[in-house]
Amino acid sequence: MAGRTICILGGGSGGLVVANKLRNALGAEHKIILIDKLSYHLFNPSLLWLMVGWRRPEQMKRDLGLLKRKGIDFVQEEVAGIDFNKQVVKTNTQDINYDYLVISLGADLYPERIAGFKEGAYNLYQLSDVIRLRDDLANFKGDKAVVMVSSIPFKCPAAPYEAALLLNAYFKGQKKSVQVQVVSPEPQPMPVAGPVVGSHVASLLNMSGIQYMPNTTVKAIKADKKELETADGKNIPFDMLVGVPSHGAPAVIKNSSIAAETGWIPVNARSLQTKIENVYAIGDVTTIPLASGKPLPKAGVFAHLEAEVVAHNIAAKIKNQPAVNEFNGDGYCFVELGDGRAGFAKGNFYAEPAPSVSLWRPGRHWHIGKVLFEKWWLWKWF
Ligand SMILES: Cc1cc2nc3c(=O)[nH]c(=O)nc-3n(C[C@H](O)[C@H](O)[C@H](O)COP(=O)(O)OP(=O)(O)OC[C@H]3O[C@@H](n4cnc5c(N)ncnc54)[C@H](O)[C@@H]3O)c2cc1C
Repeated sequence: MAGRTICILGGGSGGLVVANKLRNALGAEHKIILIDKLSYHLFNPSLLWLMVGWRRPEQMKRDLGLLKRKGIDFVQEEVAGIDFNKQVVKTNTQDINYDYLVISLGADLYPERIAGFKEGAYNLYQLSDVIRLRDDLANFKGDKAVVMVSSIPFKCPAAPYEAALLLNAYFKGQKKSVQVQVVSPEPQPMPVAGPVVGSHVASLLNMSGIQYMPNTTVKAIKADKKELETADGKNIPFDMLVGVPSHGAPAVIKNSSIAAETGWIPVNARSLQTKIENVYAIGDVTTIPLASGKPLPKAGVFAHLEAEVVAHNIAAKIKNQPAVNEFNGDGYCFVELGDGRAGFAKGNFYAEPAPSVSLWRPGRHWHIGKVLFEKWWLWKWF
């Protein structure tokens, strides 16, 4: 069989799994190339633990160059363009030909879309800012901490609520009297998961004494005055501001022929194939409309499970076997409470007319489950 080249763009949750799975499924005559602008893979969920000092950065990162030991070629370069007709990925220094392409470039962050974000807020989704936040928390003297969501969609719908719960528990542990508040344009926490999950998370916030302002869009951050200005003209004061920045499709995708008007890539919801033959997209860079009208949330669990399907089907195609695996819309999520416990939600997001999601009572075992998942993830794929 002639050797094929599979090029995977992005070494995050989705790309990492595709590369590993394909390497296991295909012989050495087939080339697997993983391209990422960063030298390392970051296990994003641990950013929340890093914030409160439960992790150090080196415990949640792995060098993507380690994949070479497994026979995966790693190229650390920025993807500058893709020529779908010629089947070529362009970086700033080279052109890389492919037979199959998997795009898993995630979402880009645009904090600057809210004036004053960079000056006034810690970016909860950026490693360097979370390190700065962790260091500043120890000396924090104020009495009001705000967690703010800039816009929808954003990855990991639970993350801002977990951040608020973790911060609240951190301040309590430090015997500091700090009012934590969540400000979000969402009508309820995790709206795609339905009203039961939303009201459960809202009641967790309430029981912890965290103030919650849904349906609130922040227009600007006045860093000098330490105030948020909302779209409806209110001013919300803060001493510390932790922000989920605005998200958008990666620039290289947004302007390409494969993207929808929104910039995200439409795919077949079951096979993750794009409109172009032999080109697949998975994870946060995609847009998959659900029966409820909302899109499938951006979360690592989906990137992971989609990656398994795509890797299986590409390997099957190369081996001339029927490509039968389909992504069924299942997903799950741990919700950290900050006191050593976590909640757990699991469900099917392709259910009609709306996702069907069940909740489990918070407990210490779910927190331990999340820790074990982190350890497994970094062991399994490196
Ligand atoms: C604080 C936080 C907590 C989270 N917690 C959870 C959780 O508990 N559960 C969950 O399911 N999800 C969670 N997520 C979301 C999860 O991390 C993402 O949804 C997931 O990583 C998406 O995978 P992906 O492969 O689509 O993109 P990513 O993992 O973001 O990977 C994209 C990769 O592409 C690279 N890249 C981008 N553009 C280029 C370019 N032009 N050239 C080269 N490389 C490029 C990036 O460097 C990156 O490595 C969390 C996210 C955050 C920030």
